[in-house]
Amino acid sequence: MILWRDVDPLLLQPQFREDVERFLAASPFWWTVTSGYRSIDAQRVLYARYRNGGARAAPPGRSAHNYGLAIDVALDADPEIPGLQPTWDTKAAGWLWLKTASIPHPRLSGGWRFRDWPHIQRFRWKRFRGWTPPIIQPLHAA
Ligand SMILES: [Zn+2]
Repeated sequence: MILWRDVDPLLLQPQFREDVERFLAASPFWWTVTSGYRSIDAQRVLYARYRNGGARAAPPGRSAHNYGLAIDVALDADPEIPGLQPTWDTKAAGWLWLKTASIPHPRLSGGWRFRDWPHIQRFRWKRFRGWTPPIIQPLHAA
């Protein structure tokens, strides 16, 4: 199961979007997408936070997120409880499913390969950087 929450799937490169939708929809586990396309400005903010001790983030323009070619997901430990109950225990069955199922996929690559388990990106994403998302509407327009 896949929940997009406040991530807009239309800002992802279409083939990548179709691939991750099919991949996660086929999962017996519940996945919430927590991040998708990121503008260069948004990446700049995350990178500055990383430099100040925050979560790992690539420099602006160096992340597959900047080209609509990556998503981050959270594994819901208990979908029976309303809201997201994320588990980051990478030994949990869901994370092991994600790792095992991503290995044979021809176009997806799991971030577990570089210890970023929530991250899923287009395999060899740098070859597909030409994607430009449609006009971006502010998520929370006044
Ligand atoms: Zn990511």
